Amino acid sequence: MNQLLADPSAAGPVLLVVDDREENLVAMDALLGDGEWQVRTVDSGEAALRCMMTEDVGLVLLDVQMPGMDGFEVARLMRGSPRTRFIPIIFLSAIAHTEAAVLSGYAIGAVDFILKPFDPKVLRYKIGVLLEQEQHRHDLQMLSQQLDRERAFNASVLNNASEGILVIDGEGVIRFANPAMAGMLDRQVEELQGTALLDHLQLPEEPQSWQQSEFYRAWRAGRTYRAHDALLATRSGPALPVALSCSPLQQYQNSMVLIALDMSVIRKLHAQLESQAITDALTGLQNRRGFHQSLESALSRIERSGQRMAVIYLDLDGFKRVNDSLGHSAGDKVLRKVAAQLKAALRPYDVLARMGGDEFVALLDSLESPEDAARVAEKLIELVSIRHKVDGMEITLGASVGIACFPECGQTVDGLLRAADMAMYEAKRAGRQQYRFFSPEMNGRARSRLMLEESLRQAIEQNDFALVYQPQIDLASGRLRGFEALLRWQHRVAGTVAPGVFIPLLEETRLINRVGEWIFDQGIAQCRAWRERFGEELLLSLNVSPVQFGMPQLVDDLRRALERHGVKASQLEVEVTESALMQDLQATREQLRQLRELGVRIAIDDFGTGYSSLAYLRHFEIDTLKIDRLFISNMLESPKDAAIVSTIIDLAHHLDLDVIAEGVETHAQREWLAQHSCGTMQGFLVAPGLPREQADAFPRQFDWVDWKAAGQ
Ligand code: C2E
Ligand code: CA
Ligand code: CA
Repeated sequence: MNQLLADPSAAGPVLLVVDDREENLVAMDALLGDGEWQVRTVDSGEAALRCMMTEDVGLVLLDVQMPGMDGFEVARLMRGSPRTRFIPIIFLSAIAHTEAAVLSGYAIGAVDFILKPFDPKVLRYKIGVLLEQEQHRHDLQMLSQQLDRERAFNASVLNNASEGILVIDGEGVIRFANPAMAGMLDRQVEELQGTALLDHLQLPEEPQSWQQSEFYRAWRAGRTYRAHDALLATRSGPALPVALSCSPLQQYQNSMVLIALDMSVIRKLHAQLESQAITDALTGLQNRRGFHQSLESALSRIERSGQRMAVIYLDLDGFKRVNDSLGHSAGDKVLRKVAAQLKAALRPYDVLARMGGDEFVALLDSLESPEDAARVAEKLIELVSIRHKVDGMEITLGASVGIACFPECGQTVDGLLRAADMAMYEAKRAGRQQYRFFSPEMNGRARSRLMLEESLRQAIEQNDFALVYQPQIDLASGRLRGFEALLRWQHRVAGTVAPGVFIPLLEETRLINRVGEWIFDQGIAQCRAWRERFGEELLLSLNVSPVQFGMPQLVDDLRRALERHGVKASQLEVEVTESALMQDLQATREQLRQLRELGVRIAIDDFGTGYSSLAYLRHFEIDTLKIDRLFISNMLESPKDAAIVSTIIDLAHHLDLDVIAEGVETHAQREWLAQHSCGTMQGFLVAPGLPREQADAFPRQFDWVDWKAAGQ
């Protein structure tokens, strides 16, 4: 209730009475005081103006004759201020004015001119009507101000929205465009108004006319039309990708609002992500996924044209060594360099990808004949197989290449890739630095290889491997020098499998490291177990495959096994083939140095079969030469082989090395070797590789005479 009274509007509009005579004011107050308005009385023009500045006055009753500022002057001043300009004025006058004076009173804003004395009822009535009108005028003014504000608000929303906004009429003509839209189209807002919407769009399918466009159809059906992949035709630059939505406005407006969202950043991001997904980060070439896509699209293209093409699979030889010995960052450099070399060697439209690791693959498009692919393969091998300089070190790489031609070797992405991969493996098997075309027989071989590989894994898990020990005998004295440990695979179905069959597989699949560690442990444990029986002079020879020899952890593995079983390093002889030594001379020298430091002996296995010259013997510190079985088995028939054997024996003596003849099967061979001062022999003549229990029982001193007499 109090609140209601405090509210001035609740007490009614304000009626201001201006008269210089006090008695008039009192009379007016008495006369008008009980109306639906509030009466304020003031006795001068100045006071009246002051009052109107502080209060919302609805009507002024203004005495004309006042000393100082008269009524007309007050009215004129009121017109000068926006706050008071529209307040209605009733002039009150005691004297009759000339018509001119009355008219000028109206001209400066009077709504009425009343002569005193007046009929109070009439005045009250007039006041009521005028105040009500004034109230309406005031309300209207407020409303229009509110409208102005809202319009300004809407306009600022439209002006500041970063989405492009258009209003299109039913004929497809732009009626409104906001600045963002103009900006997207690289035009002025005014230029757009009145132009056809379709002129600014590049749609996936251009409609024949506005009436056939999706915009129009959706609008007619009262639904929103959306296009996520529209393009805006900008004035000059490239088209701008946008997402559009176009919704009908209320029916009577006969138009629709179209909102365009700039998608260029998102599109760019999308394209970037897409290209990242198919790019190899290291080399910038395509990756496996990218190559799959390229091959797929090439296949669908070529199927129609009837052309030929080839997939070339290239695997680096010797890369692993770089990685292991020089570290990964050096490895990465090599891969980048090789990638650049390969890329430069191919035609611009050939596709080159890195499949992972050191494997590359190329797609040779539109070939004349398979020979072209062979020529490319030769070129690539030649390119890669040079000395590369990395971090100041020289390294030698090689490459093995498999080729699969379309359509002969496969018609699908997977088929072609598999065929090229198999051919590459064949090339590797054939001795690296070669290329091979895929042939259907490879398929069968590959399958059995796969099976073998799988059962090897099982063998490791089920512990189906065993070592046998072949004695090494001093030819002259018959003294037991030591045993060579040889690996056997006891296959549950196939029986004993020869190491010549599965060791290359173990190497290729890198399973050799797991088996290798087992061999070291097993062999060295056996050596320890023999200490009481054979003493600490007994040697144990362990074979180390080329892959094992290339591994940096070889020495550590051996050291750990020796320590674990408390065996002296000098009891251990490591057998390495010539080819393993020749892989990478630098690395070999380092590996040998570390082995010597550990204190183990080093033997060159299958000596004489390698391609290398004898010159390197000077560079490597070794202890023993093992003459390959091939020479021994032929030497009695072939003078050439006999010459080789006696030369190797002499060489060993000169270099102060032990020499062991392998594969001695007959007494005649033994005698020949004894005559030529060969130190040690190994072979079926004495014993094959023996299971542990039989080796246990082997005599420390082998008696040729007794043994011969025993009927051998
Ligand atoms: P290798 O190191 O030259 O081993 C000698 C091979 O000659 C052995 O074959 C042995 O059984 C066989 N042999 C010994 N005396 C005679 C003989 O008088 N006449 C004939 N015909 N053969 C004889 P095996 O055990 O089949 O091993 C073949 C190759 O497999 C080995 O050649 C060696 O390179 C590799 N190997 C064997 N065991 C291991 C191993 O534990 N680790 C590694 N990395 N390779 C091994
Ligand atoms: Ca050997
Ligand atoms: Ca050998």
